[in-house]
Amino acid sequence: MKKSGTIALVGRPNVGKSTLMNALLGEHLSIVSPKAQTTRHRVMGVLSREPCQFIFVDTPGQADIQGKALNKLLDRTAVSAMADVDITLWLIDARQWTSIDEQVQQRLQRSKPGCLGIILTKVDQVKDKNSLLPLLGRLQQQMQADFLVPLSAKKSINLDGLFAELERHLPEGPWSYDEDTLTPHSAEFLVAEHVRQQLFLRLNQELPYATTVTIDRMVENEAGLEVHATIWVNRASHKGIVIGRQGQGLKAIGQSARERLQLLFDQAIELNLWVKVREGWADHEDGIQSFGYGATE
Ligand code: GDP
Repeated sequence: MKKSGTIALVGRPNVGKSTLMNALLGEHLSIVSPKAQTTRHRVMGVLSREPCQFIFVDTPGQADIQGKALNKLLDRTAVSAMADVDITLWLIDARQWTSIDEQVQQRLQRSKPGCLGIILTKVDQVKDKNSLLPLLGRLQQQMQADFLVPLSAKKSINLDGLFAELERHLPEGPWSYDEDTLTPHSAEFLVAEHVRQQLFLRLNQELPYATTVTIDRMVENEAGLEVHATIWVNRASHKGIVIGRQGQGLKAIGQSARERLQLLFDQAIELNLWVKVREGWADHEDGIQSFGYGATE
């Protein structure tokens, strides 16, 4: 009998959701960076291993970080991601419990997921594993989780333990995707996400939160894939920051994104980037929706 279902990874920013999803999928489809809140979309990855098809949903951090329109939209996406999934994995950093974890816990208690697994992440960073027992005991009592798995996505510790629990709790039913589907996302989406990841890695402070990336044109020719993309910034002054001195900043962003995309697509890529200004887009929901963030991607 086949099994299939959706699995949401929830938890505060930086807890390790993208890293875990990548480790589970074995591919770099979602976006990882040391800065908070890089996941604006519900990034999905699909893993098919007889008899199970796991459909992963990576949600944005569930924190009211600035209360601006963008954050509110992220928050709504996170809530809706929890509402319609079969298994919710709540990630907690084994090294520290914060007030944002508390907020996520309250939200989870309100939304009452059908099946809840608590994942203690980054256990490779904890010397005395017994020190985790009181926290685990308390959470288990408060949340009545269906399972509880300590693991390290980075050091591949106990990923099998998590898979065993997922297999056990996945509902029976036909598969939704072909067995070789890795992601239902378009190539355009993946290119935009990789460019955005480089912006996050290379720009400081709040600037990256006010940028977005659109794909203008993508054509396949004999040399490989030719991509034309635009980086949208909030203010004219930000344009220069992204481009950098003598264009060095933009060049570095393009080079790194291109290298990663070549690995992902397994073909040569020519990446042409432009930077354009659209004032105040991050402050208005209309602006955000017009870039596609309101869509259920
Ligand atoms: P997200 O915001 O929840 O998606 O968090 P990320 O997956 O982007 O991870 C945030 C940071 O934690 C990154 O610097 C990761 O390399 C790091 N990280 C994630 N998982 C682990 C882990 O298991 N062990 C260690 N030591 N670091 C991790």
